[in-house]
Amino acid sequence: MGGFGSGRKFGADCTDDYRSIDIRRWQREGLLTAGQQFNTEWWRRGEKVAAIAVKVETGQLRLIYSYRRNGGEWESLDYPVKLQTTTCHYGGVRYWFTCPAAGCSRRVAMLYLGGKFFACRHCYKLAYRCQRETIDDRSARRADKIRDTLGWEPGILNGNGWKPKGMHWRTFERLRAEHDKHAGLFMASTMSRFKIKIDR
Ligand SMILES: [Zn+2]
Repeated sequence: MGGFGSGRKFGADCTDDYRSIDIRRWQREGLLTAGQQFNTEWWRRGEKVAAIAVKVETGQLRLIYSYRRNGGEWESLDYPVKLQTTTCHYGGVRYWFTCPAAGCSRRVAMLYLGGKFFACRHCYKLAYRCQRETIDDRSARRADKIRDTLGWEPGILNGNGWKPKGMHWRTFERLRAEHDKHAGLFMASTMSRFKIKIDR
């Protein structure tokens, strides 16, 4: 039995914590004709942090990149991802990836890099709901997750509860500080949205 503070995780990771590729964007940009080759890059704080090459073939595309784990040897990867099409209401086709993970083959618009290979969010067990959340949605969710960890009543407005029995004080203080930070962000954001002002 793990118990509180033993590293047990509540909920899944967010899709937007991972590098992703979106076939809808590639289709919009006209990149999906056989014979095309292009690069896709990821940037953070003005710096390129990763890139892959994509080669479009008939009925599939190839993802070409190098991968290494924790500063180990670089490994060259080059594997096909089958494409699928569905017809649109107003004519034309819509493209989909077929998840390349063994035994999956789901038809998806996005693939994520959560390890060596791209795979769908089901394979990486990612929570889609994290996408496009506003700051207050996210703060409320993070605060609620901590409330859940601590066994406090759900909902920031219910105030803070007590330290769960058996949890180290250090762990509790860390979680409480994190909770208060997210609760504060949520309150600030909500109040600015509703034009509420607190006079001190
Ligand atoms: Zn999959």
